[in-house]
Amino acid sequence: MFGFRPVYIFDVAQTDGEPIPAVDSPAVMNGHTGWYESLREACPFPICEVPAGEDGVLGSFSHRTRSIEIVERLPEAQKTKVLIHEWAHGLLHSLTDRPDRETRELEAESTAFVVASALGFDTADYSFGYIVGWRGEEAVKTLKACGTRIQRAADAILIAFRPEQVIAKEAV
Ligand SMILES: [Zn+2]
Repeated sequence: MFGFRPVYIFDVAQTDGEPIPAVDSPAVMNGHTGWYESLREACPFPICEVPAGEDGVLGSFSHRTRSIEIVERLPEAQKTKVLIHEWAHGLLHSLTDRPDRETRELEAESTAFVVASALGFDTADYSFGYIVGWRGEEAVKTLKACGTRIQRAADAILIAFRPEQVIAKEAV
């Protein structure tokens, strides 16, 4: 694919990136979930696939443009996980509704874990490493405090998406 895209001057305060935390860096998720394309279609935020940057960020949500960027050259499973994570940032956070950075990352990654579980793929190894990398020993306490927000965001994503498998599960 050729062409060019606008170059954004990233303002850290306006963007929730997904850097790999320095502590307990989770390995990139390999494999294929089969969900990426349909999640992408269901996502209410515009998604742009971008080349990998030097900062190691796998994806980001811009609160200024209300859009998502995902590094193009990642395994499909990782892209799927990143997409749900950034979608969660879009639902839960804004320039005016901003818990601290560690809590934002915990909320987004926990939402990704819940949604992925409902879709039948397990991000536990990655997600728990990510959450602990950001939140450390505070993780459990923060999870308890944010549990309702996480559940609400996960529900909103699954309702927007409504894959047949999820509907079938609800009917049981
Ligand atoms: Zn994030």
